[in-house]
Amino acid sequence: MLPRTLFSRTALVIALMSFAFQIFTIAVITYFALIPLGRHATSDFAALLVDTAQAWQAEPASERPWLQERIGRLHRIQVQDPPGETTGFSRMLPYFQLLEASLGTRTGAHIELRASRSEYGEEWYWADLPAAGATVRVGFPASRVDVQPWLAMMLILSVGTIVTLITSAWLARWLIGPLARLAAATQHIGRGLRPESLAETGPTELATLAHGFNRMGEQVEELLANRTTLLAGISHDLRTPLARIQLALGMLSEKPDRDLIDRLLHDVEGMNQLIARCLEVSRDFAEQDSVDLDLCDLLAEVAGEFTGAGADIRGRKGPDCHLRVRPLALKRILSNLIDNALRYGGEQPVDIEYRIEEESAEICVLDRGPGIPEAERETVFRPFYRLEPSRNSRTGGSGLGLAIVRQLAAANGWTVGLAARPGGGTMACVRVPLEEQ
Ligand code: ATP
Ligand code: MG
Repeated sequence: MLPRTLFSRTALVIALMSFAFQIFTIAVITYFALIPLGRHATSDFAALLVDTAQAWQAEPASERPWLQERIGRLHRIQVQDPPGETTGFSRMLPYFQLLEASLGTRTGAHIELRASRSEYGEEWYWADLPAAGATVRVGFPASRVDVQPWLAMMLILSVGTIVTLITSAWLARWLIGPLARLAAATQHIGRGLRPESLAETGPTELATLAHGFNRMGEQVEELLANRTTLLAGISHDLRTPLARIQLALGMLSEKPDRDLIDRLLHDVEGMNQLIARCLEVSRDFAEQDSVDLDLCDLLAEVAGEFTGAGADIRGRKGPDCHLRVRPLALKRILSNLIDNALRYGGEQPVDIEYRIEEESAEICVLDRGPGIPEAERETVFRPFYRLEPSRNSRTGGSGLGLAIVRQLAAANGWTVGLAARPGGGTMACVRVPLEEQ
């Protein structure tokens, strides 16, 4: 079972990897350096032991105490004479096997090291070596071997553990801190609150994540703000005729008036249209499924709704026209753009062009009207914003068209923009990314 937190997982992975690497390092050093070195050292030492045994055997008995003193002082070797009690011992170090092998090679016999404990409590190792027909027991103390592989192992592993912990803590500070802040901020967004902006610093991936998240926060806020304005505006637009209707009804109860009734009917019709539009838009927003469709057919269908009413729209059917989109949203966007082009295009024909590229498709509606001043090209997307602010239905609509276009596009991951058309007029383009939606 894996640990749950990122910190413990990071620590575990680093610990396992560094442990494996340490084992590998130790194995390589042992195989390529320690064992060859040990072989040389034990070979030399075996020669010394065998020479000592032979010298001992060659010396007359009277000289042997002198020899004993000399080899003890110079080489920390002793001859045990007469041989005493010895026991077997476990060979934790490869050193003993190597020494036994070297002794075997030099004497041509099978030599087995045995151990005994001196009166001072130190362990001694003995080899019974054949020398001139007799057997001489030569030995050396444990301190002469002086190899501490366990200590080395412990040192490496404990330093490894400390390094692992420090590295994980470091990584944790880099990774987990920003991620935890991101998690907290996400919960804010879930509750519809605006989270504080995250710092867009640190490693590139995290900075990109923070940047993306901040942008998402802004977009959500903008979307909410736009919808609120839309709702407030619509309510306002409904209340004005309602107030007029109320007033008119009061007057009508006193005296019937044909003119007043006509205006009443006109107001009711206006309210009806506004509500119908709201219902349509909310249906477009609720649209779920993308459909594979022929863009040219869709353009022809949308344009057809206008040309049926006498508008002049031009477009050419190009080669590959296939697209996967939510059709209702795209149709609504295009019909709003075409509606504007016809309404503000000064009776001139409207062109529709499209281009399908590697990563996106771009559909543009072009008119030859007066154009939109550059400073206004973003503001016209605000709900109820119109260049001609009178709200007179002859000079424009309610000012909702482009706001709806922007919101529908944003909800689908598309972008819409207005630009000046070369040669005069406006060019309104929607760009639809082609990746799987
Ligand atoms: P609605 O679309 O809700 O009936 P509307 O057309 O006035 O009303 P928008 O479509 O949002 O609202 O357009 C906002 C304003 O931008 C318009 O009132 C108009 O002044 C200006 N505008 C939009 N499209 C064009 C265009 N193609 N050429 C010139 N001005 C334009
Ligand atoms: Mg419009």
